[in-house]
Amino acid sequence: MYLVTAPWFLKIGYPSFIWKIPEKEKVIYLTFDDGPHETATPFVLDTLKKYGAKASFFCIGKNVTAYPAIYERILQEGHVTGNHTNHHLNGWKTDDATYLQDIKAAAALIHSPFFRPPYGRIKKCQWRKLKQENNLYPGQQTAIKIIMWDILSGDFDTELMPNRCLANVLYHTKPGSIIVFHDSTKAWERMSYVLPRVLEYFSREGYAFKGLPE
Ligand SMILES: [Zn+2]
Repeated sequence: MYLVTAPWFLKIGYPSFIWKIPEKEKVIYLTFDDGPHETATPFVLDTLKKYGAKASFFCIGKNVTAYPAIYERILQEGHVTGNHTNHHLNGWKTDDATYLQDIKAAAALIHSPFFRPPYGRIKKCQWRKLKQENNLYPGQQTAIKIIMWDILSGDFDTELMPNRCLANVLYHTKPGSIIVFHDSTKAWERMSYVLPRVLEYFSREGYAFKGLPE
């Protein structure tokens, strides 16, 4: 079970996490979790390019190891990357030492101040320990920022019709929205339908698509 828009009780429980970017301008922050993926990620990159759009990719370390050239392409095309652990661990079900170690393993490959916990699940004690890490990746200048979302497209929900998934995004998006998609096998049917339509619709409405600001 999931909600399209992030619920208020989560936002109040985790006020230091980033749920949306305060924006007066028409800017949308598209994010793609769980890649790099052999076919889905190149599709996303090609589609973004058609619209001059930038986005942020929360990559799984083991997938960066599997597809280093695709990871390079994300960076070369001017997108932002973020850490999504090395093995897609659920923080609630993982002891702190293992969780931190897995984030560090991913940080060796993904040099980014941004972290998104898989399933949105991280314990407060894990967050405290993560914030204290000053050497997560080479050249780390700032504390890690946890990026959540204000819109879950639901593209991972295999029972959701692609046009319902599209409606979720069209209806809820506002200036500064952080939207979650997945470059994964599971989300492919919905994401590949929704992404071009979201780019087309909001481009016509005068929106720009940017990577997360540091
Ligand atoms: Zn994920």
